[in-house]
Amino acid sequence: MARRFGRRRFLGVAAAGTVLGSSSAPAGTSAGREVRLEFLRPRELKEAKAACGTIFQPLGTIEWHGVHNVLGVDAIKAHALCLHAARQGGGVVAPPLFGGIGGLNQPHTFIMDPEDDVFSVYLRPWLERLCREMARDGFRAIIILTGHYGAAQQMVVRETAVRMSRALAIPVLGTPEYWLALDEGYTGDHAAWGETSLMMHLFPDTVDLSRLDKPPYQGVGGRDPKESSAADGRRIMETIVSRLATLAQKMPAWSPQTLDSFIEAEAALVARQLSAPGGKKQLWTAWRNVATVMRDYGKHLAEGRFEEIKTAVANL
Ligand SMILES: [Zn+2]
Repeated sequence: MARRFGRRRFLGVAAAGTVLGSSSAPAGTSAGREVRLEFLRPRELKEAKAACGTIFQPLGTIEWHGVHNVLGVDAIKAHALCLHAARQGGGVVAPPLFGGIGGLNQPHTFIMDPEDDVFSVYLRPWLERLCREMARDGFRAIIILTGHYGAAQQMVVRETAVRMSRALAIPVLGTPEYWLALDEGYTGDHAAWGETSLMMHLFPDTVDLSRLDKPPYQGVGGRDPKESSAADGRRIMETIVSRLATLAQKMPAWSPQTLDSFIEAEAALVARQLSAPGGKKQLWTAWRNVATVMRDYGKHLAEGRFEEIKTAVANL
């Protein structure tokens, strides 16, 4: 809203996986294998790919996230989740992309494509080119995780992933992070309980709840952020990360039949999201009952139960 595995550790275990510097390192990422693509030398990348051919691409933007959160929440949240998942399940993580479709009409918000622009002229071709280059470099699965999620951003990310899965013949998943934890009650929000809790766990130094006055809070959408806690953030994070890790481990080894079944389910979802507004400017139409209908999406995705996803989509 603008609104486990053939685990193979290699030598050269790297130091911090920090994003904002050591004091703000995502919890639990300060040790372990270096998974950030931009910090790998050729040999380390070759070894990482041999162990697991998945690459993560985190997406976000610069956007107002209330007076209590930093402006880069979406990208740094998605990046941290990907880092945890790669360390747990395998794969490497590309640098986060700051920039996408839409954003709140609030200060300090960079809007590259208009909010409702499902015909995105910047994000879509950029994602396409990233996928093509990742496949050309030998990656065998791609997970695009967007921490920024207006309706059009979500549609374009998933639609591009489906099309690239077909064109490149490797699995490409494009999803907002909250879709992987709908069954944890995390239904996506903006700078409210969910995002703020995640940030309190991942980057505790960045959240200052004392800056919140009384509701309504400027540029916040969802449950009261004053109810946020690092414990809730940790629970949400663990669910998302374990599912991403499972996917990262399994996706490169999917059979052509499994890939087809995955693509069909994701394509059904894209079709439903795009067509539900009936040509009108009501992009959120297919989201009205997402918390109930798609509640088990993350679980089913990680377990490869794509038929069940397809069945659920019909009820969106
Ligand atoms: Zn956000």
